[in-house]
Amino acid sequence: MAAPLLLLLLLLLAPLGRGADSGVAAARPEPADVVLRAELVRTLDPARPTAGFVAWRGDRIVAVGDRGDAASWIGAGTRLVEAPAGAVALPGFIDAHAHLFGLGHSLREVDLAGTASFTEVIARTVQRAAATTKDRWIRGHGWDQNDWPVQEFPHHAELSAALPDHPVLLQRVDGHAALVNARALALAGIDRSTLAPAGGEIVRDARGEPTGVLIDRAVDLVATRLPEPAPAEEREALALALAECARHGVTALHDAGIGGPRLALLEEEARAGRLTLRIHAMLDGDDAALLDQRLAAGPTLDPGGFLDVRAIKVYADGALGSRGAWLLDDYADRRGHRGLPLIDADELTALARRALAGGFQLCTHAIGDAANRMVLDADPADVARFAALGVIASVQFCHATSDAPWVPARLGGARTAATAYPWRHLLAAGARLCNGTDAPVEPLSPLRNLAAGITRRNPDQDVAAHANVVAAPFLPEQCLTAAEALQASTVAAAHAAFREADLGQLARGMRADVILLSNDPVTVTPETWRAIRVLATWSGGRQVHGSR
Ligand SMILES: [Zn+2]
Repeated sequence: MAAPLLLLLLLLLAPLGRGADSGVAAARPEPADVVLRAELVRTLDPARPTAGFVAWRGDRIVAVGDRGDAASWIGAGTRLVEAPAGAVALPGFIDAHAHLFGLGHSLREVDLAGTASFTEVIARTVQRAAATTKDRWIRGHGWDQNDWPVQEFPHHAELSAALPDHPVLLQRVDGHAALVNARALALAGIDRSTLAPAGGEIVRDARGEPTGVLIDRAVDLVATRLPEPAPAEEREALALALAECARHGVTALHDAGIGGPRLALLEEEARAGRLTLRIHAMLDGDDAALLDQRLAAGPTLDPGGFLDVRAIKVYADGALGSRGAWLLDDYADRRGHRGLPLIDADELTALARRALAGGFQLCTHAIGDAANRMVLDADPADVARFAALGVIASVQFCHATSDAPWVPARLGGARTAATAYPWRHLLAAGARLCNGTDAPVEPLSPLRNLAAGITRRNPDQDVAAHANVVAAPFLPEQCLTAAEALQASTVAAAHAAFREADLGQLARGMRADVILLSNDPVTVTPETWRAIRVLATWSGGRQVHGSR
């Protein structure tokens, strides 16, 4: 599954001035556009942590207060929303690490999650093919042979017979294997004589022919043949991703790596007022022309406050699962191997200086302890240096629980206990911790992610047939409190995007990015998160999810 990701934000500009104080003005205020009244409003504002209503006009919150004071904000044109019993209002969730277009494209694929047989996989794929021009690729994801009557990897023969004209690539649920059909094998030039690349496997049948199942790096043999998405497909992906965020109560997102064409599309959508999500766009650090152009132009934020461009994403190393993460000591399950840096220290320093000079933030993917040390340029007290240097640890709660089954094999027991996914150590050392999902690597759900951070138990463990799920808490001493986990998913994530003055809290002067949940998320567990519904989402005062 995904790797533990410590994304380090090297540059912190001085915090912006805070908006006006929260609270209710004394007399006869101008009425609000919307007044949302709930038994409990969790504001995340330390000056007033809970309230009974929140009111906004346009895209700004004008009042947060006791239930009884809501009336003074209600006029003839005001929409009054009375939350049902038990529902809780909060600032919208901020996903501090995700891939918006990747999420959108994954939503365009055939959803194979929960298929009860290989026959059902084929049926769903055939259905999609019926609406797809011949020769166009059909992609899908989510199958798991553990859910089928015969719990073995499938063979492409039946799929190829049903779909002779479309190349097909169907990813397994864990993203580490894929099934392709004969057409895709032919396009990729894979036959019985093809050797698997290092780190990959071409599964073969008794006759020595490829079965269509490709593992890890062997998937690249086919994946690299996929055409770039067409502009219309990019637009469709964006629309799907925005809707998915609204549905999950995510009102802001840090996009961890965006190239020129996608940035142009986002800017066009921002100008047209069509973005319903605040996007902190990290520029793709490998795109030299894009960096030149943007660093020269300086940081930008559109007038609606939806798209900011002031960050650069680079990779210090690879992933732990594939042993690409750069470690200080050998991998416990491959002696003599420590992974590799993907950038050298001088190059990283030069880019950091350039970013700083241009007013940009440097966001570094760093998973292994050696990679983190290169970024922090220090030693095992590297954890303490996050606070000392003002570096933000942008982590993914759900990666810890997803990776739990195999991390001790990679690192060994003692190193795992001392160093892996150390959320509580980071907080205790005074670091700022913000949280994301890395969607579509993990589901976008903030509630699933909170459950992982608070309990360190896999939030999918109530789902049958997940062979890789470990039920016990993973390093339970690193569990966060619900308050800490919520903070990392709202206030701290806003701060990490230089948006603490207008996002992440419900307080007067803040943007009206507000969600209403059916239950209090501080009670969330792996068993209960699915039952909590996002009843409504407002982005900049505009309702973008839920019934009216
Ligand atoms: Zn990512």
